[in-house]
Amino acid sequence: MRLVLVGPPGAGKGTQAQFLAAHYSIPHISTGDIFRANLKADTPLGREAKGFMDAGQLVPDSVTNEMVKDRLTHDDVANGFLLDGFPRNTVQAEVLRAFLAEKQIPLDAVLELSIDNALIIKRLSSRLTCKDCGAPSAPDAEKCSSCGGALYQREDDKEEVIARRLEVYEEQTAPIISFYRSEGLLITIPAVGSVAEITEHAITALGRLS
Ligand code: AMP
Repeated sequence: MRLVLVGPPGAGKGTQAQFLAAHYSIPHISTGDIFRANLKADTPLGREAKGFMDAGQLVPDSVTNEMVKDRLTHDDVANGFLLDGFPRNTVQAEVLRAFLAEKQIPLDAVLELSIDNALIIKRLSSRLTCKDCGAPSAPDAEKCSSCGGALYQREDDKEEVIARRLEVYEEQTAPIISFYRSEGLLITIPAVGSVAEITEHAITALGRLS
């Protein structure tokens, strides 16, 4: 299964990606996680990305595209992959299309998690993230439910940055939805209900692929 997961920040992409990747036994490739790991390790890539991330802006395509193309040459993607947070604009979508066409490994589907803005702001501004594994946690959690690590609020989950991220999504990422719809790859499901219900809905919808 070669899958792209799209949806606004706060739609639950990271959480669903973990479950879907486990279900299909494919690697979960999150560009946000890769950037955050580089930030934490204080690499040149992390230092380059930091200002854009803290401001809720996209990291430049030149940096992001090379990072993803490199990741997609690792052996573990031979049986598929789940891309979470990439592509995020039409240039990235075109780069991905050309890269996969050259390797003759077309996408199976693009799964869109849809959710309205009021719910996004509520979810994100109270979300806590694990310092160690990056998993999101509920606002009342004391430590990470996945690995027991300490929790913090992401710089870009602060309310003023969330508004900017939503604008960036509308302006730059939403157009790729029409692109994938026209390619016949788009599957949209509402990101409402429990985590397990959304995962089940996604697996059912993906199971209808011929
Ligand atoms: P995420 O964890 O997917 O919400 O990503 C966090 C931040 O990382 C974004 O707000 C961007 O600054 C950066 N980022 C993640 N994916 C991309 C991408 N495909 N293109 C550019 N910037 C990205």
